[in-house]
Amino acid sequence: MNTDQNLLTLKNCIGTTASYPLHSRTHTLKTFGDSQTSCFVKREDELGFGISGFKIRKYSSLIPHLLANKIKEAILIGGAYSNNIVGLTQLLIENSIQPTLFLHGDTQTKKIGNFLLTSLMVPNDSIHWVSRDEWPNVQEIAALYAKKRSKQTMIIPEGASVAESLPGALTLALDIVNNEVQLGKAFDHIFIDSGTGMMACATILAFAWLKKTTNFHVVLMAEEEREFLETLSDLKTQFESLIGAQMKWPFVKEKLKLYRPHVGRAFGSTNKTIFDEIRRIARTEGFLTDPVYSVKLFLESRRIITNEKIKGNCLIIHSGGGLTLMGFQDQLSQGV
Ligand SMILES: *Cc1c(COP(=O)(O)O)cnc(C)c1O
Repeated sequence: MNTDQNLLTLKNCIGTTASYPLHSRTHTLKTFGDSQTSCFVKREDELGFGISGFKIRKYSSLIPHLLANKIKEAILIGGAYSNNIVGLTQLLIENSIQPTLFLHGDTQTKKIGNFLLTSLMVPNDSIHWVSRDEWPNVQEIAALYAKKRSKQTMIIPEGASVAESLPGALTLALDIVNNEVQLGKAFDHIFIDSGTGMMACATILAFAWLKKTTNFHVVLMAEEEREFLETLSDLKTQFESLIGAQMKWPFVKEKLKLYRPHVGRAFGSTNKTIFDEIRRIARTEGFLTDPVYSVKLFLESRRIITNEKIKGNCLIIHSGGGLTLMGFQDQLSQGV
């Protein structure tokens, strides 16, 4: 099969998604790259104010699934400051699906940042706190709760990384292909961040299906390499059943590199370098980044491009997450 046919098959398999904004632009970066390396940013942050770019793509197939299955209550699992919790809650309320939250923490959790915004939408009696000791069993705790409900429920795990989000997640790859057509250039290297890994894996799988030779540099914010490769293998199976074809494995080995951030290695950890870079990018490039995902990706991309002497067209994907900044006002106001 030629690649045009593969593109058509991919589009057909994604099917109809909710009419959320799913096209983001790319533009050049001024302070990354050099005469032999052109760097571009894909502005997924521009897809929404309240919902991060990556997440709205997943929801574009997840929400239609919830509606088609007449789900009346969604049980969300995640951290108190999660982008997924604050994002998905908005669409659930819009669609008259009751959000019930199982959050990592306790009633003393500070109402700042994303949790402050979540608490504007969800009353206390719909929030169940799960302590650190109980957290490994949170799935069972949520399942026990779901069993007792008379309404039609669905449990949605961390990051909304469920099979029903995969078609929506795949729209990122299609949109990058659109960007390439618009720019009249192909990207040689793509830099992308990873939480649960769903967005990065979906994009890698779609590119492999389209027989593209792009190199992927994935910065793992929350996981080890082994966990990411397990996710890639699981999603490959899901992708193949969606597309109705098998793909050769390992199709991406020499095209895929995984990294942990050198600055702020632990998920959610921050330091002065991170806040300095947020300020630097804001002043030189003119956009805002967040301390949990995007700024770490930009810091790491610069390091990789320099150390590995990367040449050609590079695309750094700004995944969004700007609301997180609200929770870091003290750190941001120092050294201004
Ligand atoms: C959720 C999220 C990610 C990670 O997406 P995964 O599919 O979980 O890997 C990256 N950036 C932002 C801003 C996010 O909200």
